[in-house]
Amino acid sequence: MKAMRTQVGIVGAGPAGLMLGHLLHLAGIDSIIIEDRAQDYVIERVRAGVLEQTTVDLLNESGVGSRLQREGMFHDGIYINVFGNRRRIDIAALTGRRITVYGQNEVVKDLIAARSSTGRPLLFEVADVSVHDLESEQPKIRFTQDNTSCEIQCDFIAGCDGSHGICRASIPSNHIRIYERIYPFGWLGILADAAPSSPELVYSVHERGFALFSMRSNAVTRLYLQCAPDEDVSKWSDDQIWDELLTRLHSNDGWKPNVGPITQKGVTGMRSFVTEPMRYGRMFLAGDAAHIVPPTGAKGLNLAMADVWRLSRAVASYYQSGCDELLDHYSEDCLRRVWRAQQFSWWMTSMLHRPNTGNPFDSRRQLAELEYVTNSRAAMTSLAENYAGFPINE
Ligand SMILES: Cc1cc2nc3c(=O)[nH]c(=O)nc-3n(C[C@H](O)[C@H](O)[C@H](O)COP(=O)(O)OP(=O)(O)OC[C@H]3O[C@@H](n4cnc5c(N)ncnc54)[C@H](O)[C@@H]3O)c2cc1C
Repeated sequence: MKAMRTQVGIVGAGPAGLMLGHLLHLAGIDSIIIEDRAQDYVIERVRAGVLEQTTVDLLNESGVGSRLQREGMFHDGIYINVFGNRRRIDIAALTGRRITVYGQNEVVKDLIAARSSTGRPLLFEVADVSVHDLESEQPKIRFTQDNTSCEIQCDFIAGCDGSHGICRASIPSNHIRIYERIYPFGWLGILADAAPSSPELVYSVHERGFALFSMRSNAVTRLYLQCAPDEDVSKWSDDQIWDELLTRLHSNDGWKPNVGPITQKGVTGMRSFVTEPMRYGRMFLAGDAAHIVPPTGAKGLNLAMADVWRLSRAVASYYQSGCDELLDHYSEDCLRRVWRAQQFSWWMTSMLHRPNTGNPFDSRRQLAELEYVTNSRAAMTSLAENYAGFPINE
């Protein structure tokens, strides 16, 4: 058995684990990050792309925002297209904040580069990961790498291993409470080699279902279609996908997305999920390991960043003063933001997806809500405030 020792053992090298390692490094705290996937897989995994102002500020202030500043796409608003009537919500004018489109994989790439430059350990392709002695002062992570059994003795463990990881699953069920809601639809998402035809995102409500126009760069468009949660993507030809997108994104002002070769496609189910508390003994959960939001509100990555900011401060405070206070408040403080994001993501999802209840009342009520949200300054401000995100310490 190969024995290692660190202050914070981090399971998972997604945005949460990598950012936590980076913030701890800046505070002079040692960590080991382990990841069960290969480095290339982690870097190439296409997921989130909409960053709140708070996330961008955190990346900049912690010294990993220089490429984001050069290559990020800064947006002052979004469009909501209600049955062909496209209206803009001016987030910057309503809140003084903006959003930035910069792929999650680019954030991950920047964080891996930052980690590598510190020389602190970041181990890819580990297997058989398990956590032990969580209630003791020396919790442990065990895993194998290259057929060697390894054990890391830690002061703290950070469970940043996403929604299917082992950390949350290692907490005895009588010590946590799970809140969950599964939605009766999913998103069929594509990446296309086509220059974005709108400088801002377009959320579109259509008889046939929701569609979203987004982008990843000046040459790549990202688009989504509401579909069944178990939709078989192989049954969709590229032409069918484009036909459906052009139908659902149709706008009476003549706007439409540019069509180009589809380079990636996949289906994502939608759910809301919260674990309470986000701590068991000396193990702290952060990011998707603790909570999932449907992607409509673009909050998942941003919540992960806010969690690890809080956790890094709490751990730093512990080492500076021996005081447990921030660690003891970690879960409660994170959950306030998490539940606010849950509410917003649920609301955006319910408002923008076609209800498949079969009851015409639901469709008419949805239309009334969309009319209100796209016409009332008060309603637009509420949406904009939540979409742009709240200050990190709220
Ligand atoms: C289609 C889609 C679109 C999205 N759009 C947005 C958006 O626009 N804005 C937004 O904010 N969010 C969005 N999200 C959500 C966002 O991608 C996630 O919230 C984010 O990835 C969470 O980061 P994380 O580090 O907590 O988890 P993850 O990114 O899941 O990282 C967890 C890591 O842990 C690793 N791991 C798992 N198990 C183990 C183990 N046993 N041992 C070691 N390592 C392990 C995984 O391989 C992974 O690398 C979207 C998600 C999807 C699927």
